[in-house]
Order: sequence, then structure tokens, then C-alpha cells
Amino acid sequence: MELPICIFDLKSGILCPRCEEKVLRGLYDDLDIKIMKLLLELEKELPKLAKTGYVKTVDSTDTVYIILKEDTLKYIDQETVYALKKKLREKLGKKIKIIEDDKNLSRFIEKLVAPARIITINKIWLPDGSEEMRVILDRMKSLETTSSIIEVVKKVKHVNLRIDFEKTGWLEKKVKVSEKKPTA
Ligand SMILES: [Zn+2]
Repeated sequence: MELPICIFDLKSGILCPRCEEKVLRGLYDDLDIKIMKLLLELEKELPKLAKTGYVKTVDSTDTVYIILKEDTLKYIDQETVYALKKKLREKLGKKIKIIEDDKNLSRFIEKLVAPARIITINKIWLPDGSEEMRVILDRMKSLETTSSIIEVVKKVKHVNLRIDFEKTGWLEKKVKVSEKKPTA
């Protein structure tokens, strides 16, 4: 598997200056290192994993989201993905979601929210000059999933996401409460 941290560093547990800099810059944290080590080990049993690459891991409430390199999951069969999720679930004790990265933000969000569908998506600028992506979904996933998706988009794409729903208007308010509202 293509990894952003040297294999030697992962095996020895000591980061070279280049990899250490990536950690200091906040690109990767202890969890990423842990997952990369696990993936490296699992690649021995699941050799098809060599065809993909590691992007990022986000540990949310009850689910660990592992983002793999764009356009590579087509090289990995369903059995491998299933076995990978099962092994990781056993080791981490949480649900595992494997998501393929996408340079197109809308498509990335689409993959995250599936099977819900995006009704509208647009970018808005807040009074403080920051950007926010606003997405309206056709249906509700759990509130927990919703906040996890917001967290994944923030950590992987560095974009603030707001999710609303077409039908369940009352839930919209609940989701918004947890976010910081800019004072105009
Ligand atoms: Zn290194």
C-alpha cells in the first residue's frame, strides 16, 4: 500500500525528519500511524491492498472512517474490503467505514452520505470570510452519523460542512445547535 509515512519508520517506531515534519504539521497523528501499521500488517494476508493508498483516518463516536486513495478501490475485490473491515473491527472494536477519496468535494461527500442522496450542495461565505459547504440530503441518517460526516469532511478536506434535510426540518435545528454560529 502506498503510505505517506516511510515503511521503515512505521516498523521501527521512530520517525525520520521528513515524516516527523508531516506529524508536526498536523497532517497525520498517532491514530494515522497506528492504522498505517495495521494496514501494513494486513497487507500480508490481503495482498490486493497493495493497489491502494492511505489518505487519512477519522475516529468518530462509534465508527472509524478510513479514507483510501482516489480511484483505487476498483482494483480491490469486495471480499478483500469485507475481510479488511472485519479485521479492523476486531482490532479497534468499532464499526469501520472504508471511503475512497475524491478530489471533487461533492463526490467525496456523496460517498460519505450514501445511501442518502444530495439534493443540493452549495458553498456559502460567512461574514467572517470563512467558507462553508451546505448540503441538503434527501433523508436523514442518524444525528451521530451526521456529526461524524461533518468531522470527516473537516479533517480530510479542511472544509466546514453543514447538513440539512429535505423532510425532517426539526432535526435540522438539532444539528445546527452543535455548530458555532458566526456573529454578523
Ligand atoms: Zn520517514
